[in-house]
Amino acid sequence: MKKHYFFLLVFTLFIFPFIVPVFSQTSPQLVDYIFCKCNIITIDELNPLFEAIAIKDGIIIGLGDTEEILENFATENETTYDLDGRTIMPGIIDGHTHYMASLFWIGETETIYEAQILALANGYTTLNEKSIDMGEFQWLQEAEQNNTLRLRVNAFLIYNYAWLENNESVLVEHWSPDLEPLLEHDRKFRIPGFKIYLDGAYGNRGFPAMSDPYTQEMIELWGIINPYGDLYFNQSELNSVVDSLHDRGFSIAVHAMGDRATETILNAIEYALNGTDNDNARHQIEHNSFIREDQITKALSLNTIHSVRGYFPTYWQQEYADLYSAVWQERTVNRYSLPGEGLHSYLETDFGFLHGYDEDNWSKSANIRPFLHLWGLVTRKAIDENGTIHTPNPWVVEHEISVEMALRMMTIEGRWKDRVSVG
Ligand SMILES: [Zn+2]
Repeated sequence: MKKHYFFLLVFTLFIFPFIVPVFSQTSPQLVDYIFCKCNIITIDELNPLFEAIAIKDGIIIGLGDTEEILENFATENETTYDLDGRTIMPGIIDGHTHYMASLFWIGETETIYEAQILALANGYTTLNEKSIDMGEFQWLQEAEQNNTLRLRVNAFLIYNYAWLENNESVLVEHWSPDLEPLLEHDRKFRIPGFKIYLDGAYGNRGFPAMSDPYTQEMIELWGIINPYGDLYFNQSELNSVVDSLHDRGFSIAVHAMGDRATETILNAIEYALNGTDNDNARHQIEHNSFIREDQITKALSLNTIHSVRGYFPTYWQQEYADLYSAVWQERTVNRYSLPGEGLHSYLETDFGFLHGYDEDNWSKSANIRPFLHLWGLVTRKAIDENGTIHTPNPWVVEHEISVEMALRMMTIEGRWKDRVSVG
């Protein structure tokens, strides 16, 4: 397969809201880098495109056309670059990965280094690790201290394990009660919150918790034990879990696939917010695999944040199309409508190291290639192991996402959910 190289300059997104092009100096100001004759996509709706950029001390201090920038800024050391029409955009933020956690288990310094270079080369600057245990936590802390952390990592600490034992959720009990969120924007390692597993995920983790039962056919075919799927916490348990983490200043990221799980977590977030806005807490819901219209309305009123799956090879999902009722099909397609509804929504890919990257195979769902996810979000098409392109089933393509919206989900919306402190 032909290799694709993307030129991508990645920079910190949080400075964008403060950019105002200003050009009125008499002598050029000395900066560290100038890139000109390029296509700069800012993801800022008011100032979407520029041609040249000036950077000093890691901060963007000028944007404009090539002539303006060269007139107002200069560099020493030949660090003014003519990019000949190449594109510059903000660094990509993945809202849901298990990349760093999977590297921890490999444990080889060289692999860890190269894997981070691979992620950076693909355009990622920040990963949200949605399940970090104690060992991974200490390792990431050390990596930051030794300067071996190249990516920014937002770690969501595991609150409970992703399975039930004797119908009980298995809690992770070793987190210190004095642990506080780590949110500083200039840190590579941050702790915005906790990850809570609320329902199943097909197979041995149990099944998504639904408000209508699975059919007899599904129960037999998939070996389902609880006909309504598996909910790991009841409403009052979840209310007190979310409320106490909220009070300690943590965001919560909740695995919720079935609509009964979504209902329970929306209620718990409402309880914890207690009339305040989610703009401060930034509680977020992962997967949203079956979401109802009334829940979208409630999510809008709470201003919750939602993950949307990127590239996903839905062409093999005929089995689901045949088994799901029209109502279930509509609920599972609703997940793609979330950004269009005006909800904060971010890219979710779920990639790890061992399964995330295969030089010649683009077909895998949990894929490290962000532009494959962009293509998936916009077209819902998929590519198989042989390189054949598949058009999606009609029931999957109801809600289209524009390229602009998908790019927002991959950058500024990922930044929104980060809740880093700038001060
Ligand atoms: Zn995951």
